[in-house]
Amino acid sequence: MEKMVEIIPIKEWEIYKQAPLLITGPCSAETEEQLYDAANELIKYNRVDVFRAGIWKPRTRPDTFEGVGREGLKWLRNIKRDLGLPIATEVANQYHVNEALKFGVDVLWIGARTSANPFALQEIADALQGVDVTVLIKNPITPDLDLWIGAIERIYKAGIRKVAAVHRGFSSYEKSRYRNQPIFQLPIELRRAIPEISLICDPSHIGGSREYIYELSQKSMDLNYDGLMIESHCNPDMALSDSKQQVTPTDLDAILTRITLRQPDTDNPVYKDVIAELRSRIDQYDDQLLDLLETRMNTAETIGKYKRENNITILQSNRWEQIINKAVGKGKDKGLSEEFICKVFEALHQESINHQNQVMNS
Ligand code: PEP
Ligand code: MN
Repeated sequence: MEKMVEIIPIKEWEIYKQAPLLITGPCSAETEEQLYDAANELIKYNRVDVFRAGIWKPRTRPDTFEGVGREGLKWLRNIKRDLGLPIATEVANQYHVNEALKFGVDVLWIGARTSANPFALQEIADALQGVDVTVLIKNPITPDLDLWIGAIERIYKAGIRKVAAVHRGFSSYEKSRYRNQPIFQLPIELRRAIPEISLICDPSHIGGSREYIYELSQKSMDLNYDGLMIESHCNPDMALSDSKQQVTPTDLDAILTRITLRQPDTDNPVYKDVIAELRSRIDQYDDQLLDLLETRMNTAETIGKYKRENNITILQSNRWEQIINKAVGKGKDKGLSEEFICKVFEALHQESINHQNQVMNS
């Protein structure tokens, strides 16, 4: 993979004022008045860095509100002119990009359905060749890290340097409390693959309900994300799209006030000493765990040899039942969740079977 070392981090963008960068505004532009109401309210709280509104809305089903189209770009341009706010909208094809640029849109975002589509992405990248604009790339709707990386690569190759990734969660067939599964592991892996990339959390689309915005935002701040994208509307219940997940500017201010920001690091020498000592303990425990795992597998192999001599099958379900039940019970007393214990013991069991398999068939 080509290193994307020239990506400019959010903290160096002209529009960045303080952590976290906040992109907010309604899901969709509905009327010019609705946009001004939201923008004026948000400015009052002095929180908004970029004002967002969808003009072209990718809706799952037809016969729902699909956005006001090009007309909305005039409204956004007026907001930028009158209130001095940078503006953002979603683009999904070359026409959208060209129109948005004509109207001075500062930040373009590529939606989750579009970033899942390499043809659309390439078309957008071609339209952006040689343009100086900021581009946010939402995660594709499927939890596919390569697809997300590929979308970022296409935009980067077009010469765009102010790029950031937006984490908006992943669709799944199983219903969960959130509208989209967050799977925080994926954005963390993305940052490992592209260390230069800044991360923005979109708790509105992950949660799908305003009640989850605080907890998801806090979690993303604890994971050192650089920004938030949160949908805000003066009258959320009447919004033409995503009404359940939008918050009033007043509620948004309250949510942001509750969020605790933590530092990724500090120069405080006492803190550094204490952490170094605790980390050395963790390293020791990890070494002990590895030694123990080795011993456990050696014993499993001995059992395998003995079973082979006596012509006994590897898997004995009742024995496995006993092990897992005992472990879950003991784990509970030690404050370890059933989910964790099951994961660890299933992995241990599988590894034991693999070792015994080798012994039996060697
Ligand atoms: C949006 O931001 O309004 C939107 C449509 O987002 P997503 O692509 O994440 O569904
Ligand atoms: Mn929305």
